Amino acid sequence: MSLGRTLLLRASQSDRLRGVFPRLPFADRAVRRFMPGEQAEDALNAARVLEGDGLTTVLTQLGENVREPAEADLVADHYVGVLDEIARQGLDAEISVKPTQLGLDLDADRTIGHLERLAARSRALDRWLWIDMESSPYVDPTLDLYRAVRARHTNVGVCLQAYLYRTADDLAGLLPLYPGIRLVKGAYNEPEDIAYPRKRDVDEHYMRLAETLLNAQRRGAVRAAFATHDLALVTRIRERAQEKGMEAGELEFQMLYGIRSAQQRRLAADGCRTRVLISYGEAWFPWYMRRLAERPANVWFVARSALPW
Ligand SMILES: Cc1cc2nc3c(=O)[nH]c(=O)nc-3n(C[C@H](O)[C@H](O)[C@H](O)COP(=O)(O)OP(=O)(O)OC[C@H]3O[C@@H](n4cnc5c(N)ncnc54)[C@H](O)[C@@H]3O)c2cc1C
Repeated sequence: MSLGRTLLLRASQSDRLRGVFPRLPFADRAVRRFMPGEQAEDALNAARVLEGDGLTTVLTQLGENVREPAEADLVADHYVGVLDEIARQGLDAEISVKPTQLGLDLDADRTIGHLERLAARSRALDRWLWIDMESSPYVDPTLDLYRAVRARHTNVGVCLQAYLYRTADDLAGLLPLYPGIRLVKGAYNEPEDIAYPRKRDVDEHYMRLAETLLNAQRRGAVRAAFATHDLALVTRIRERAQEKGMEAGELEFQMLYGIRSAQQRRLAADGCRTRVLISYGEAWFPWYMRRLAERPANVWFVARSALPW
């Protein structure tokens, strides 16, 4: 892993920087690149605009590791409100939630309760609920949550990270459940004994996992969402799907708001299902630093935002 990426991921965990950075005068401008605003309303407005371009969306309120059960209750209530608004506006939008924002550190059973409530509300709208994957200590607890919720709700998907060595086994264990799987490379700072340190190896692992997902998708055994901005991988996945006789419309790609926007529209125009994940909320600092770490060149963008012109 490059030094820049390591430092940025360390910075994402710094309480001191979390307090200082958002107050800097240029922070707002820098963050706007990746999120349309801090309120759910900003995300819903952006979702409506994207729908005009043939893009559907996933909405997520930033925040993690809540410290009180009452905070998690508020987050769950918030998402119910967002789902109501999605229904009212007739948007093709889903939600994605972080287990630790729904209290996983405090009470797993209560978190399952929140997830079940959100899954049921999503089901009523004919939408899916997505569960994010956080750093490695949360993988087993998150998969446990997923299994518990999946046992009663079919419309629930979970994120798996290609940088972890274990993920092929996790995927094999989940496939009999007819799951929803969002495949990502992985955004956290993980040690070499559990995660591939080299990008090339992560990419090859991603492709092997994608192959398994494509085969399962052909059997109707999974809802697979390939969440990556890596256009070389996108091309390879599309080619493999074609070789297997799959139509473009059987493929789903997901990307983040503000990243590779032109390619998002192109994929949709080519007939691929394309969802854009829109983040919003006040607790954006650690999430924002992870976005910078994915492309340390973005630090230049932040530096430019700090200039007065
Ligand atoms: C819909 C969605 C959901 C996600 N959910 C999770 C999750 O639950 N858990 C988790 O650990 N991770 C999650 N991620 C993040 C993911 O793990 C990666 O960190 C992130 O997607 C970057 O990896 P990449 O596949 O785009 O490939 P990379 O090799 O990192 O990037 C490929 C190319 O995309 C462009 N790019 C990538 N990131 C950026 C950026 N920030 N700014 C500008 N250009 C960029 C660059 O041109 C880069 O060369 C999610 C990503 C997406 C798209």
